[in-house]
Amino acid sequence: MDGIEFSGVQYAVQGKPVLHGITLSLHERRIGIVGRNGSGKTTLLRLMAGLLAPTGGTIRVAGVDPAVDRKAMLRAIGILFQNPDHQIIFPTVEEELAFGLRQLGLRAGEATARVRTCLAAEGRAHWAAAPVTALSQGQKQWLCLMAVLLMEPATLLLDEPFAALDLPTQARLSRRLASLPQRLVTISHDPQAVAGCDRVIWLEAGRVVGDGAAAWVLEEFRAEMARRGDSDADTDLGA
Ligand code: ADP
Repeated sequence: MDGIEFSGVQYAVQGKPVLHGITLSLHERRIGIVGRNGSGKTTLLRLMAGLLAPTGGTIRVAGVDPAVDRKAMLRAIGILFQNPDHQIIFPTVEEELAFGLRQLGLRAGEATARVRTCLAAEGRAHWAAAPVTALSQGQKQWLCLMAVLLMEPATLLLDEPFAALDLPTQARLSRRLASLPQRLVTISHDPQAVAGCDRVIWLEAGRVVGDGAAAWVLEEFRAEMARRGDSDADTDLGA
């Protein structure tokens, strides 16, 4: 009951299919979704979070239709987007962190108290009043991760989480993510970003073309990219 179930899920934009009848039952703790740009990964992620509704088929996250029960989804699922600048809304660290908790219905005082406890636990109590504009990209990504984790979601969706970060920051974020108890669903065009997953789904033009252990799915994916002369799997050829 606590997994993510796709049953014949279709998504079309102005009649043009983006996803063609996806059926998946996801119960692993570390799930990777890989595919070239334009293969439908972000659309799948947005459907899981209820940010889009499918044009056909059904999705259930822990038994709930994400597009219908938005309140349940706010608690069940957190998303970390590729670019923290697109996710941060408020001018200070404390306001940004408190926002999600307020959305969950916490009173202002309670939300602030939880934010301060979190910052203290991170050794960053002095950041509460810091302007977000003073933070580096890595620090902003950390802020977005904290904002999501404060809401204690069972599942965390990660959209190209390493793409905007330098290598040392990627390594730090990677270690942090590996230590989390949450179910993680990571989407990336980069096979390295999902190499540690328990299961990897490979999307191509809106269809699942590979599904299984990371080692063999990624071997096939890399071989296919090499055949196409597209070794970094980063060419947007559309669906
Ligand atoms: P990925 O995340 O793998 O790069 P997307 O899910 O973003 O792929 O997009 C898959 C395909 O669907 C692309 O060809 C994209 O152009 C198309 N698409 C997705 N959303 C829209 C939209 N709102 N309008 C037009 N085309 C879209």
